[in-house]
Amino acid sequence: MTRSRSSLFVATALAVAGFALGARGWQEGKPKVGFQDTPMLPGDKWHVHDGTRPQPPIVTPGTPSTPEAPARAPSDAVVLFDGKDLSHWQVDGKAPGWKVEEGAMVVPPSGTPNGGTITSKEEFGDCQIHVEFATPNPPKGRDQGRGNSGVLIMGRYEFQVLDSFENVTYADGQASAVYGQYPPQVNASKPPGEWQAYDIIFTAPRFKGDGTLESPAYITGLHNGVLVQDHVAVLGAMAYRALAKYSPHGPKGPIAFQDHGNPVRYRNIWVRDLKPFE
Ligand code: MG
Repeated sequence: MTRSRSSLFVATALAVAGFALGARGWQEGKPKVGFQDTPMLPGDKWHVHDGTRPQPPIVTPGTPSTPEAPARAPSDAVVLFDGKDLSHWQVDGKAPGWKVEEGAMVVPPSGTPNGGTITSKEEFGDCQIHVEFATPNPPKGRDQGRGNSGVLIMGRYEFQVLDSFENVTYADGQASAVYGQYPPQVNASKPPGEWQAYDIIFTAPRFKGDGTLESPAYITGLHNGVLVQDHVAVLGAMAYRALAKYSPHGPKGPIAFQDHGNPVRYRNIWVRDLKPFE
């Protein structure tokens, strides 16, 4: 390309870019979409259908487990357990005594060294949590003694795990209850031994500088794809026969699974950090 042709090319490119940016704010190299002559969204910096509003990040969605293949997490998730090892987990700062069997991590028998509540090494604040679990088959025990475990968000806010298939207990203690606070809207439990899924959207509580509560935690939960908790305001950390209350803590905390002495199995555990988009 000669110098003059090159200059012409640059001038043309600039003109095109200038036109593209123009009064409507379109950006060079970006597809011309949307509008800027539309009303402003209240309390926001964007017009209705604003063509200059950034595009959301692209995430490749996950796939569920099948008999032929293990599940795959969404591309932006932190995978805490993929069926292979407990490298993302600890019990009291030590390697867990939980077992890995047939692609599942299993609550160990009582008295197992380094048994007890298992805690993720990574910590999370506002997040989306996916957990699959299966309660023991054949079932043993009744009421709170049957397939009891729990997802302890930030190590303290319990989304209950229990065998609630033809097993009656107090409503705010059954599977997918926010334990001691909110029964699930419905009981979507599968029979013992079948794999079940929890999908939980969690908003962490905020505390003021003096340690008092600024805003509570919120939980939305689905049990086997069925809505069971709809943005409930959590009253505080899990409590038994007592009213839950908050103790101030940092903006992030681990995911933990309760060891309640029942050999509940877990698999395909992943967490996505949540942050508002522009
Ligand atoms: Mg429990």
